[in-house]
Amino acid sequence: MVGYALRANPPYTEISLSRIAYVNGRYVPHRDACVHVEDRGYQFSDGVYEVCEVRAARLVDERRHMDRLERSLKELRISMPMPRSALAMVLRETVARNRVRDGILYLQITRGVARRDHAFPPPGTLPSVVITAKNYDLDRLEQGASEGIAVIGVPENRWPRVDIKSVSLLPNVLAKQAAREAGAKEAWFVDAEGRVTEGSSSNAWIVTREGAVVTRPADFGILRGITRTVVLDVIAAHGLTLEERAFTMEEAYAAREAFVTSATQFVMPVVRIDGRPVGNGAPGLIASALRRDYHDHAETA
Ligand code: PMP
Repeated sequence: MVGYALRANPPYTEISLSRIAYVNGRYVPHRDACVHVEDRGYQFSDGVYEVCEVRAARLVDERRHMDRLERSLKELRISMPMPRSALAMVLRETVARNRVRDGILYLQITRGVARRDHAFPPPGTLPSVVITAKNYDLDRLEQGASEGIAVIGVPENRWPRVDIKSVSLLPNVLAKQAAREAGAKEAWFVDAEGRVTEGSSSNAWIVTREGAVVTRPADFGILRGITRTVVLDVIAAHGLTLEERAFTMEEAYAAREAFVTSATQFVMPVVRIDGRPVGNGAPGLIASALRRDYHDHAETA
């Protein structure tokens, strides 16, 4: 153990040594946390997940995340592995055991372990549950937000049910990598009509020259982000004009501001789109105000 801790090789730092994961009823050291090779999440991406912010050691918007989790499970006909109240206790315990103050909680539920067969496994197959939690560097995140991020457009190539928060994320993985390789932080999927759906791991927004905040309606074409829902409240509280409609990349190029929202980034200003500066190329006033006030509107248990 000690020898292991002394290995300088990241990510096996001493911090990761003390991390704990919840796996199917057990709290285990993170580095030993394993699922079976025939887990359907591993073989078929047959599962769902949630990512929830932890702030001051408390879960942010837990109720909405659990509502969305239950909906995703229902849409895929995977049963809830335990009552919601029990799950809430496990989430808290995982946060506590990892001494998370400001960070994220990851929860994944799959259709369980069964002999490989595309069709559903036999009735009674238990869903698999994995929960991890970790601290993140809030100062670095704030620094990033003060600079803003670059995004690129990529063709929408996902299945039509992206409203389900499934672990089937291959197009998102490829899109994010394309962004990285282009020196950007996020990729916006653009549908066949040239309209932005959402980011590879965030919802997409612009502010028009007239000052209207625009984001795509949360129909089946995007994930109904929890951060998006809260930001809609912040927009209403500020008396800003909201247009829930799809916008094109051309509109985004000409926008006064742009930003993305997600539980891990809150409201993140976008300062470049496909290499062109947005507005004056600095984080916008509206995005910055929404970011500042976001946590006043989020629910903290
Ligand atoms: N869209 C996609 C594709 C995402 O992966 C995420 C992040 N989970 C979001 C939107 C934002 O959702 P939330 O605000 O709930 O994090």
